[in-house]
Amino acid sequence: MSLEISSIRNFSIIAHIDHGKSTLADRMLEYTGTLAKREMRNQVLDNMDLERERGITIKAQAVRMEYRGFHLNLIDTPGHVDFSYEVSRSLTACEGALLLVDASQGIEAQTMANAHLAFAADLEIIPVVNKIDLSQAQVERTVEEVIRVFGFKREEIILASGKTGQGVEDILEAIITRVPAPKSETNLLRALVFDSRYDPFRGVIAFIRLFDGELKPGMHVTMLGTGGDFEVQETGYLKPAQTPSKGFSAGEVGYLIAGVRDVRHCRVGDTITSLSSPATKPLAGYRPAKPVVFCGFYPIQGEDYESLRDAVSKLQLNDAAFFYEPETSEALGFGFRCGFLGLLHLEIVQERLEREFGLNVIATSPSVVYRLFLKNGSTLLIDSPTKLPPYGDILSFEEPYCHLTVFVPSEYVGAAMDLAISRRAVFKRMEYLDATHATLEFTIPFAKIIAEFHDQLKAVSRGYASMDYEVAGYIPAKLSRLDILLNQEPVDALSVIIHTDEAQSYGRSLALKLKEAIPRQNFAIPIQAAVGGKVVARETVPALRKDVLAKCYGGDVTRKRKLLEKQKEGKKRMKRIGHVDVPQEAFLSVLRMGT
Ligand code: GDP
Ligand code: MG
Repeated sequence: MSLEISSIRNFSIIAHIDHGKSTLADRMLEYTGTLAKREMRNQVLDNMDLERERGITIKAQAVRMEYRGFHLNLIDTPGHVDFSYEVSRSLTACEGALLLVDASQGIEAQTMANAHLAFAADLEIIPVVNKIDLSQAQVERTVEEVIRVFGFKREEIILASGKTGQGVEDILEAIITRVPAPKSETNLLRALVFDSRYDPFRGVIAFIRLFDGELKPGMHVTMLGTGGDFEVQETGYLKPAQTPSKGFSAGEVGYLIAGVRDVRHCRVGDTITSLSSPATKPLAGYRPAKPVVFCGFYPIQGEDYESLRDAVSKLQLNDAAFFYEPETSEALGFGFRCGFLGLLHLEIVQERLEREFGLNVIATSPSVVYRLFLKNGSTLLIDSPTKLPPYGDILSFEEPYCHLTVFVPSEYVGAAMDLAISRRAVFKRMEYLDATHATLEFTIPFAKIIAEFHDQLKAVSRGYASMDYEVAGYIPAKLSRLDILLNQEPVDALSVIIHTDEAQSYGRSLALKLKEAIPRQNFAIPIQAAVGGKVVARETVPALRKDVLAKCYGGDVTRKRKLLEKQKEGKKRMKRIGHVDVPQEAFLSVLRMGT
């Protein structure tokens, strides 16, 4: 029996990180009886530890709730700019969205970015001012900001608290009255894949929104983007536990299991259709996820290589956007060149390797993808300095750039502006949201953003500024390759591609950083920085390690122990390069310095 389409409501919650999305979702599950209170874990929707700790949702999922005869599907969005394509796909699976704004923070960068995606997807947007229970909540000011920035009417805005549950009923009522029911265009099956994950026993579990037609176990389906022939084994809903169904009719949201063994055959944004009577027109907007940031991952212990290979291949099963290929470094041995959607994606993968697979990996300095024009007329995309052809072959370079939006309280406008300009940003425009908040827009080389821009922005604004960016295209750039020589040997893993006029000063500070990071050894170690083969900076780590405990003057035992433990920890993360022990910290210092 198919579900009455007029009883379905599909919606998501969009918000800046920490504005209370997961908490509010929990209250809604509780209020609708989807989960009994005692079953509630905090933040049911974020089920990876990592997500819970960072307060972000990496993978979108869908939960079904029943409320007053309506079937409400809450589709969770990733919320972070690294995953903006996934956000936009999740939003196209919906007819409506709750736009959540923390009453103590006001509108922030991702509020804007995600709201724009929701408006672009033509969703009915229900503005919610959240956390009104907080003593520092500025409810009236936030309401006015929401009215001014997005043009909502005062009476449209719902005041809520995910903590006390206030406003939750109003929100549910608004969803069934304001969000339109789905509409179907044809009887030919079309379902949007908005997320997928890998289950070692059942294969890929795809999260789908059915736009047209019907889907039942036993049917054979194919993907309009990547092809294939898959027999549907199971359909169902998350309540939030996986609950099988007899099938789906138009408008429904749920999961699908069809014996797909690899997430790359079931990509986010692709359209599922029937193999026997396929729809011809895919649902709009499919594009394969493209990594834009690359780095090398190497095992600290060479014998962990096999485990690392096993781990990255498992991660890729779960994450179609993650890319890897084998790479060899003279300095680090066997490893992998890995590609990511952004810096956060990189950090998440690295942390998962460490936590879920117990692997200690060294990550080399992240790189964007450069475009090279060669004298022989060909064009080359380069994601690693080691892949650069000889200088003589290169005609010119281009680098990716971004549109950058910064949200900042008025008193930090100057500081944010200075920081951006010092990172080669070109100022575009400024707009005051109200007397106290401004948005600044820039274009900026992507390489400048991945080099810790976000942390520095937070630092110069006491944590108040937030940012959002979008990779926009390529611009000409004067670039060089900078190499580091340790004990006369080039350390390929420390090479970077950098703006030519910054190479010398960067080389100098890098050499200095390395000098501080590399412990003294039995012999003196020269550190040199070279640009295009020419040495531009030189430092030396003197021989003879001085006793680190000497400066503790006996008395403080805990401090001594701490110091020793720290040293031990450091040792674990030591890598032998040539004849020099280089700690992980030395690599991280390169990473953190930014180019
Ligand atoms: P998300 O990142 O948008 O999913 O935000 P979370 O739901 O994880 O909430 C972020 C933080 O704000 C957590 O520490 C929550 O406990 C807290 N929080 C969320 N909603 C409320 C609320 O309505 N009132 C108060 N006082 N705190 C809240
Ligand atoms: Mg969350």
